[in-house]
Amino acid sequence: MNVDVAIIGGGVSGLATAWELDAKGYSTVVLERQVRTGGHAFSENISGFMMEHGPSTINAFDPLAQNVSTRLGILSDQAYLGDGVKQRYLVDNGMLKAIPIHPFGFMTANYMSLPGRLRMMMEPFVPRGKSGTEETIQDYITRRFGSEFCERIIDPLVGGLYAGRASELSMPSVFPKMLALEEKYGSVAKGMLSKFFKGGNMPSKRLFSWNGGIGTLSRALEAHVKNVQTGVTVRSIRKTKTGYQVDCGDRGPIQAKSVVIATQPHVASGLLSTVDVEGAEAAHSISTPPLAVVFLGYKREQVSHPLDGLGFLAAEMENIGLTGAQFSSTMFPGRAPSGCVSITAYVGGARHPELARLPEQDLLQLAQKRLGSLLGIQGEPLVARVRHWHLGLPQYQLGHSTIVQTLEDTSQRNPGLFLTGNYFKGPSVAACLGKAQNTSSSVAEFLKSSTDQQDYFSGKQACN
Ligand SMILES: Cc1cc2nc3c(=O)[nH]c(=O)nc-3n(C[C@H](O)[C@H](O)[C@H](O)COP(=O)(O)OP(=O)(O)OC[C@H]3O[C@@H](n4cnc5c(N)ncnc54)[C@H](O)[C@@H]3O)c2cc1C
Repeated sequence: MNVDVAIIGGGVSGLATAWELDAKGYSTVVLERQVRTGGHAFSENISGFMMEHGPSTINAFDPLAQNVSTRLGILSDQAYLGDGVKQRYLVDNGMLKAIPIHPFGFMTANYMSLPGRLRMMMEPFVPRGKSGTEETIQDYITRRFGSEFCERIIDPLVGGLYAGRASELSMPSVFPKMLALEEKYGSVAKGMLSKFFKGGNMPSKRLFSWNGGIGTLSRALEAHVKNVQTGVTVRSIRKTKTGYQVDCGDRGPIQAKSVVIATQPHVASGLLSTVDVEGAEAAHSISTPPLAVVFLGYKREQVSHPLDGLGFLAAEMENIGLTGAQFSSTMFPGRAPSGCVSITAYVGGARHPELARLPEQDLLQLAQKRLGSLLGIQGEPLVARVRHWHLGLPQYQLGHSTIVQTLEDTSQRNPGLFLTGNYFKGPSVAACLGKAQNTSSSVAEFLKSSTDQQDYFSGKQACN
């Protein structure tokens, strides 16, 4: 098979790249190892309960995701957080503490000590840090807001959203917008307050999904992509005179003018090893600790907690083995049969990769034990399902921007070879869509310039 572009990996990143290139008129093929596309973005209906195996919400603040939803024709199917989402919870000494969903929630809730809250309020008076020094999230937040705020608020957030540790992740790579607020307003708190009064930065207004779950996005992308081949594992790529040869094992080789690697970084590293050692080493250095998702469905009366929020997060020092859990059936209506509720717990990441590798039965036991005591659950679940992600979320550790630069330069060292995915602009689905758009533009530019060159040379030959 001959194509303009072979795209390796049929997750959101690969599908979105192919979709954009198809729209520009190039011939593409998406090669996906699994029997289905979507990668992490997969929703499953289990006896009337909807389980999100990976992402559960999209951030609506990024207009790109809304725009993609419109272009794919799935805007009218979008679902917004249900009315039942009234608070967020944090684990506090083995109990759930409700934190109101507004920017002053942490101040009004009795979750932090009085000295901790007073220290947090001093943030506007903390001088700017040294410019040009890359701090970890822990160092930055502790310096500006105090250690209690970092340990009890930011650590659970980083564990829950990034499956990471505040002591390891890079502040500028993970929270560049927060740094920009400090830059603009001289204080993060001042900047956030200003934004709040201008636009209302409330979670209930900024998170969405679709009625059919996040899998709706994967399905719509696949439906808009012309040539998707599932069950194809790409073994290696090698350079040829006209571009690249993609080795798909039994499925035969594919000749492509350009290749986009849209897999997890460790897979990308293996594929790069035959063509770009520098890129292979850079991709290999990105850690993607495993994650496990435990989905449980109950009859409403089995759970005594009101489940009136997004769910809960847990600081590492709480040592409960879960990074947090979502009250899935509260977040979006219609996610559980009438009279039932569903809860999704998350295990592992950088904190405890070994827990994410536990067998299914052990993970179910761990989640049921913890959720049982935190939420007052009686009896066995109606449905229970575990998803292991052996390659979880990429960790944007100190030095990540240098790694990204090396990977961005892959196409300069190897014209026609591009990388895309969740380790460039952020791990969120919206960030993957944004990166895919950039990648498709770069690929199109490359193909156009190589066609122009061919036209130029063939024109010259014709004159001779
Ligand atoms: C548990 C969990 C919860 C999350 N929650 C959220 C959330 O609420 N909101 C949010 O925005 N984001 C969330 N994320 C992050 C987001 O889902 C991912 O970052 C994003 O979906 C990654 O998409 P991708 O296409 O880059 O990679 P992937 O989804 O990993 O896709 C890569 C694809 O490449 C394929 N592949 C690998 N090797 C080969 C090969 N050799 N040949 C062919 N194909 C190959 C894989 O099978 C896979 O389908 C979550 C992630 C996880 C794991």
